[in-house]
Amino acid sequence: MILIDGKKAAAELREELKKEVTDLKTKYNKVPGLTVILIGDMTPSQIYVRNKEKSANEVGLKSEVIKYPDTVEEEIVLKKIEELNNDDSVSGILVQLPLPKHIDKQKVIEKIIPSKDVDGFHPMNVGNLSSGYESSIPCTPLGCYLLIKKIESNLSGKKAVIVGRSNLNGKPMTQLLLKENCTVTITHSKTKDLKAECLEADIIVAAVGIPELVKGDWVKKDTIVIDVGINKTDNGIVGDVDFDEVSKNAKALTPVPGGVGPMTIACLLKNTIECFKRSQI
Ligand code: NAP
Repeated sequence: MILIDGKKAAAELREELKKEVTDLKTKYNKVPGLTVILIGDMTPSQIYVRNKEKSANEVGLKSEVIKYPDTVEEEIVLKKIEELNNDDSVSGILVQLPLPKHIDKQKVIEKIIPSKDVDGFHPMNVGNLSSGYESSIPCTPLGCYLLIKKIESNLSGKKAVIVGRSNLNGKPMTQLLLKENCTVTITHSKTKDLKAECLEADIIVAAVGIPELVKGDWVKKDTIVIDVGINKTDNGIVGDVDFDEVSKNAKALTPVPGGVGPMTIACLLKNTIECFKRSQI
């Protein structure tokens, strides 16, 4: 079984991006800029944002974090986004989720100009992705996709089963694999026989949020299994896949932690650079 090392893959991607930023600096005499808006003092969000800033600096991006208390008015956040939309030194804007209840998430997402939407959540980017046009692609599914491609470069005709249909993970993952000519089944909480669906798969991507849902006898030999899940349990952090069982069958499997997670941040940097490049045309 191949243990898919997300840390190593993310480090390699960051190295490539670092070179790209150096080349862009030579060509345009400026570097891509990422601005993150952080609202409130939730510890996980603070940690994510700190890691994003550290990684952005590491590859040579200009990075900025704008912090607001969790009592900030929605209007102030929307105004700041407007300002950033019009700031040429900002290539990518990300508002760290979740947001306090009084702030309308969708309004915030839609306020970010699609060309700077590094999360790929704006309806315009969602539509472009599903229509096969150029778009920002949500970072986690993009990371999963790059990991799958490292194992198998030609995915044409493969049967992929996506477990979970969130806008964040399952749906964009489906689009990415469809584009690669996979036959994709998307499953969810109302799916009748998830085990039977998974047993058909050459590729399984699990993004559910249920600890160790995908069992060893759900996976046929030679399946590539990508575990997006991050679940806190009494035994520590585990994924949506039963790692010990599935590793006996799968052709390749991502660990949790150390699989998809590190790729998510690296893909955010990639998206920022892509936004910058598109803005220079
Ligand atoms: P989400 O928005 O809660 O969506 C979960 C999906 O799983 C829903 O579509 C739901 O179906 C489906 N589901 C629930 N129970 C199911 C079952 N028994 N069988 C089949 N499908 C079922 O979750 P998410 O935001 O996509 O996150 C999923 C996991 O990924 C979480 O553990 C999260 O922490 C993790 N995550 C990791 C990263 C990373 O960087 N590694 C990034 C983001 C999220 P319905 O639509 O029918 O409700």
